[in-house]
Amino acid sequence: MQTKVVKFGGSSLADAKQFVKVADIIRADESRRFVVPSAPGKRYPKDTKVTDMLYACYDLAARGGDFSEMFEAIVARYMDIVRELGLKLEDRLTRELSNIRMSFLARAGRDYAASRGEYLNGLILAEYLGFAFVDAADVIHFGEDGKLRLAETCHAVKERVEQVGNAVIPGFYGSMPNDTVKTFSRGGSDITGSIVAAAVGADLYENWTDISGYLVCDPRIVPDPEPVGIITYRELRELAYMGAQVFHEDAIFPVRQAGIPINIKNTNRPADEGTMIVETAPEDTSPYVITGIAGKRGFVTVTIEKDMMNAELGFGRKVLEVFENNGISFEHMPSGIDTLSVIVHKDEFEAKEDKIIRSLEIETAPDKIDIDRDVALLAVVGRGMRAQRGTAARIFAALAHAKVNVKMIDQGSSELNVIVGVRNEDFETSVKAVYDIFVTQKL
Ligand code: ASP
Repeated sequence: MQTKVVKFGGSSLADAKQFVKVADIIRADESRRFVVPSAPGKRYPKDTKVTDMLYACYDLAARGGDFSEMFEAIVARYMDIVRELGLKLEDRLTRELSNIRMSFLARAGRDYAASRGEYLNGLILAEYLGFAFVDAADVIHFGEDGKLRLAETCHAVKERVEQVGNAVIPGFYGSMPNDTVKTFSRGGSDITGSIVAAAVGADLYENWTDISGYLVCDPRIVPDPEPVGIITYRELRELAYMGAQVFHEDAIFPVRQAGIPINIKNTNRPADEGTMIVETAPEDTSPYVITGIAGKRGFVTVTIEKDMMNAELGFGRKVLEVFENNGISFEHMPSGIDTLSVIVHKDEFEAKEDKIIRSLEIETAPDKIDIDRDVALLAVVGRGMRAQRGTAARIFAALAHAKVNVKMIDQGSSELNVIVGVRNEDFETSVKAVYDIFVTQKL
């Protein structure tokens, strides 16, 4: 029999109604054996996620404030779910919640506080499904340096879940060597799901959320963009890095290493196919040449100009060292014969600007340094580009047509993406123009 690991995001488990949908999905396929839940998310747009309530409540407790009212609001979220599902779990939950309250008073830490959202949801879901509950703190291990110990963790997960046929393992947290709880970064239940899938050697990692997978671009820019049926891990890395956020970036590595595909699915529309994330896909399975468009505003280009730069051995290294020594990683580095530009995040750069410029002057003795603070980057990504001539021509024709001035171009030699720098105010127009030419017009 196949084994699937299924992770459900916060909106999929926001209230009892959603729990019923989740249980229906799990029961519809007996290979869905290992379940990783998030904490209850938003029930409606202005609602607050339980994780955010826990952070706020703990912060108040840590300041010595009266956090009773906030805590009761969290208690109510869980009690409502348990009651509406008709589970006999109220006594257990009352005990758990009173322990959590005591731990808040004892300053157990923000990570511990936030992790309780997933922990409690996991207890409820396990009871509702009749699955075993495996506390993530017992099997997901971080090292002293705060980094995940993947091999050790996979071993522990495998050993534990092999003893039970089906299990619920809460997402988002694990434990440090001294047994304190540590969480991943926000949205980290995706990572737990990926680890569990790798550990049990799953055939598929299903990641259930509230949208039917990736869309070609941000629906806030283009209404109702086309869905992406298949995307490779590399394409996803490019798009996720540039802002397409459906799935936590760090969640890719464990399953990718283990060769397990991911299927992004919609809990509210389970019949939709969603997006399959795979290691390799034929170039012609992408219907529009491009797979996706993503991007971000808020970059700065620092251009260093110096006569005969090209003859000066080590010039690039010296420039990059200045950024490195200031803890700034660079995004792109387009260059000319006597100029070299470094593109960095505006916020990070401006916080250290004076120091960086001074060091650049000392280390590289430039003729001139120019700073352009009005840069947005657009990533046009697609495995289909390699097999097609004229992709770049179409991108730039579309931008020219939309009267967008292109400031920078960078095409990775893998021919998987073209990065374009434009003015911040041209960002949305650019996304629309590229979408229109490839997807709407299918040119
Ligand atoms: N509940 C956590 C968050 O809101 C983790 C997750 O949902 O994946 O970030």
